Amino acid sequence: MNIKSFKSYTTPAPNFPEISNCKNIKELKQIHAKLIKTAKIHDPLITAELVKCSALSLGDLNYGRLLFYRMNQPNPFSYNTIIRAISEVEDDPLEALSIFTLMLCDDFISPNNFTFPSVLKACAKLANLGVGKQVHAHVTKLGLEDDDFVVSNLLRMYVMCGVMDDAHVLFSRRILHDDDNVNGVSKRREDGDVVLRNVMVDGYVKLGDLGAARQLFDKMPKRSVVSWNGMIAGYAQRGWFRDAIEIFREMQLVDENVKPNYVTLVSILPAISHMGALELGKWIHLYAERNDIEIDDVLGSALVDMYSKCGSVEKAIQVFESLPRKNTITWNAIINGLATHGRATESIHYFSMMLDMGIEPSDVTYIGVLSACSHGGKVSEGKMFFDHMIRVAGFKPRIEHYGCMVDLLGRNGLLRDAEELVGKMPMKPDAVIYKSLLGACKMHSDIEMGRRVAKHLMEIAPSDSGSYVALSNMYASLEDWDGVTEVRLLMKNRDIRKDPGCSWIEIDGAVHEFLVEDDSHPHVKEIRLMLGEISNKLQSIGYQPNTKHVLLNVDEEAKQSALFYHSEKIAVAFGLISTSSQTPLRVVKNLRICDDCHSSIKMISKLYSRKIIVRDRKRFHHFEDGSCSCNDYW
Ligand code: ZN
Ligand code: ZN
Repeated sequence: MNIKSFKSYTTPAPNFPEISNCKNIKELKQIHAKLIKTAKIHDPLITAELVKCSALSLGDLNYGRLLFYRMNQPNPFSYNTIIRAISEVEDDPLEALSIFTLMLCDDFISPNNFTFPSVLKACAKLANLGVGKQVHAHVTKLGLEDDDFVVSNLLRMYVMCGVMDDAHVLFSRRILHDDDNVNGVSKRREDGDVVLRNVMVDGYVKLGDLGAARQLFDKMPKRSVVSWNGMIAGYAQRGWFRDAIEIFREMQLVDENVKPNYVTLVSILPAISHMGALELGKWIHLYAERNDIEIDDVLGSALVDMYSKCGSVEKAIQVFESLPRKNTITWNAIINGLATHGRATESIHYFSMMLDMGIEPSDVTYIGVLSACSHGGKVSEGKMFFDHMIRVAGFKPRIEHYGCMVDLLGRNGLLRDAEELVGKMPMKPDAVIYKSLLGACKMHSDIEMGRRVAKHLMEIAPSDSGSYVALSNMYASLEDWDGVTEVRLLMKNRDIRKDPGCSWIEIDGAVHEFLVEDDSHPHVKEIRLMLGEISNKLQSIGYQPNTKHVLLNVDEEAKQSALFYHSEKIAVAFGLISTSSQTPLRVVKNLRICDDCHSSIKMISKLYSRKIIVRDRKRFHHFEDGSCSCNDYW
């Protein structure tokens, strides 16, 4: 038989309402029995419909498979159905490809445009370029290179195999060019083009070539929500949070036909969390509620995380409590969120609630609860949870868990125990572990151990400026100025520069970023005036700047002024002049907050009667009426 005579099969099989209306597999089996009795089962169209109903509609793939393999002469429709069900429903690309091979060996039929999308999806999942190219050859041979669905799946196969050059050849052959007569082109073709461009953008994003992705994106004559989501997710996953937020705003400004959907919200929330952009985060929450976007466990977890990382832990709890379904990630978000806000008791409470409810903790859950113990000074609880993790939950501790334990012991003055634990770790300790131990030596003035730890730190992270800063801070706190000078010289000789401190604050939905001694902001004059006013007020109440940690060999006055232009102080000053008197200020800093900024922001919160919330690299500080939620313990 030639292909032509089978063209009728390329359209779905004729309707058999009795079969397609089946509500469950029991009903289907009854019909199946009747068909056997009446011998109608020999009609390939009827069996094909049975295969479709069981494998796709009712999701009983095994029954569908059984029916399929019993067919004397399966038609293309039943082949397509079973390949699709296996490739998409059961996610078994190898079996899907082996049935496709059977189909190729069948002399009486030939694959059609409904066959290839599923087959190509299977190739894409396997990322098997060799097989993919063979399938491409069949597509060409059968003249299906003009079919939109076939081509978009072909393109996706190349993209998933990471061969963007081949993808590009196919792509540029298909899309409309600027010199094409666009007016004469059907809407269908134009929509098909958007799909192809989205696949290409997605491919560049996956390979991490955001420049190429953006170039293609910018040139798109028309964009769908998928196009925007691709760029937002690309930026957010690569840690380009600011760009993610910018393009999200652009989406709303320039493209009125496109509205953010569930995927957009899930993609943008991590960027908002990172930037601490609470106003935007609230807007997203409201948007989901107003547009009937389901706040399921995934979106809900992202919201809980966002509220807690943006400093609004009450709201995080409220959202958490309101979620009808919570998964392990949701619990992790609240446990970890409470921990970074120093609310150790509540964090531990949620952890035990999680266990009571029979929710399986992950190893990340333990990082949350251990850091709660660390911030809350709960040594015995911490030890207990560490033990629980190994013995009861059966997790092998990762370096992060050891990091929490070293921090917990070190902070609480159990320096020997902490050092001993570092020596017993099954893996090589990293710079984070040594820095935390060094911080503990500084806090508890153990210079001897400090030197020992510093030596290790210099060995494993000789080019990490943070190591030098931690060491210098330790010497400074012990007023060992020779030590400070020594570190400074070492930094100079090795050409190591301190990471620039950077803070940002969100005002009216826009994020303003400040560096140390930053004078690039349009309101620099007003900010300087405010900083001057703060400085005078602080001095008038007898506040002495803590200049110990200034890594500069300059006179006292210059040190004081260097401290005064730390980025977090600039951000606070800008916040004070840009908001009404009751508004809490929320500042995010990329590094740890320094001693002097900590004590002066405490004073500022009292002098200006403002709540000031600072998130540094490690935790939150809630400043109010002259004191901080961390009780000066961070
Ligand atoms: Zn500072
Ligand atoms: Zn604090």
